[in-house]
Amino acid sequence: MSKLEYIEKRLPEGFSVYEESIKESGGTTYALTRGPGNSKKLYVKGPGAESLSGEKKTNEAKLCPLIWDNAKALMKEFSWLNPALPSSDPSFGFGDRLGLATPGHVRSIREKEVFPMFAQQSIREMERTGRPPGEVMNTAVWGVFEEGYEGGFAADADHLKSREAIKETAAVGFNMFTCDPSEHVRADGDNLSSEELEAAFRQLTDSEELLRKYSGREFTARLPEEGHEFREKFRERELMQAAVKYYRAVKFAADAYDWVSKYADGEFVFEVSVDETETPTTPLEHIFVAKELQDTGVELFSLAPRFVGNIQKGIDYIGDLEVFEEQLCAHAAVANSFGGYRLSLHSGSDKFSIYPYFAEYLGAGVHVKTAGTSYLEAIRLVAEKDPELFRRIHEFALDRFDEDRATYHVETDLSKVPDPQELPDEKLPGLFDVDDSRQVFHVTYGSVLTEKEGGEFVFKDGINRTLKENEERHYQLLESHLGHHLELLT
Ligand code: ZN
Repeated sequence: MSKLEYIEKRLPEGFSVYEESIKESGGTTYALTRGPGNSKKLYVKGPGAESLSGEKKTNEAKLCPLIWDNAKALMKEFSWLNPALPSSDPSFGFGDRLGLATPGHVRSIREKEVFPMFAQQSIREMERTGRPPGEVMNTAVWGVFEEGYEGGFAADADHLKSREAIKETAAVGFNMFTCDPSEHVRADGDNLSSEELEAAFRQLTDSEELLRKYSGREFTARLPEEGHEFREKFRERELMQAAVKYYRAVKFAADAYDWVSKYADGEFVFEVSVDETETPTTPLEHIFVAKELQDTGVELFSLAPRFVGNIQKGIDYIGDLEVFEEQLCAHAAVANSFGGYRLSLHSGSDKFSIYPYFAEYLGAGVHVKTAGTSYLEAIRLVAEKDPELFRRIHEFALDRFDEDRATYHVETDLSKVPDPQELPDEKLPGLFDVDDSRQVFHVTYGSVLTEKEGGEFVFKDGINRTLKENEERHYQLLESHLGHHLELLT
């Protein structure tokens, strides 16, 4: 009798076992099961069951709920369930707003040399979806267990803007911390008159020292291979511009790094992201930021500049590819020469036309973050399996769009969004191939997932039910869509 059959024989009626999840440790057998109503429970048989809470069944087995305390007990037993430091492979962040996508994400990297961040959620996403940091970690850990994935993953607390947020995410075991100092970036630094710029510069505490350190000095950045060298001098105006724009942000990032060092339990990696600012980061400004961080002792795993061009949520890159390539090459040289960290591409979903440049100039020195695209695959599945629910979500999303788009970078043309009421059911999943439709869903996820009426979720429960009832199909959609991302990057 196989282990699977052995366990299934001991389970109550209507339960099945996720075969990949069957593990042994210290004379105890563990397996993830799925029971009536698609609810998942951990099967445990053996002495290890003592440390988990759950219902005792006959045959000495226990069925345990997938709660955080049980996850923590399991993490003590299996080291690969704990967030780990990234390997030297390219890394990829898989945000999961619904908490049901990790097994599909695991499948997309199975055959690839990519290091995953499975728990990856920004504070904004946590607030919008009503999923606190502990729950984000919890669902990621159980997803990894379901697939029996022992290859290692990191957990990225994304877009952290306060000490409190760092403390809260560190407490539940996140081990990648992405500091977002954008509130301290002076985005209009590019458009000041000489007088205004000089006045703003003089207000910085270390302006004299910055002048000595940079003004008139030439800096060289190069890629590991010969031929790509980037050499540039800070003239006084350029230094002032870089400093006015980024100096306070650098100081905040250095503080954030100290807070992380204090609160993180064990080793961690640190990213600084200025991607959500209005004006692109020039390679010279990048040098300024990198050098200042380096000089204050901040060790970067990755840095997300605001890249040139139009990087919108959930759709491909818009802009001149030649200009992008040239700028990326310079940024890659800076990252290589000023600390040897990765360049991080945020809003990385579906940027198919620029991935090849990252692969070419950065090799393994790239980190990509995605989140919305997995949510879109989930809603695509709803369109496929429950057209009526999908049409209601669509109508609601359109109503919410103007308000919700405010905090996102999108330039959606609503006149290009087809009306699902006029489409036959079988055409509905195709809406996810229309950029403008994608963005309608992309920016409204928070409203869709939290809308309540009479104390009940209007859409969330239906979405979750559809995903759970069609679990294999959901995982397939994720595997294929994210797998396509990874093929272009590796
Ligand atoms: Zn970002």
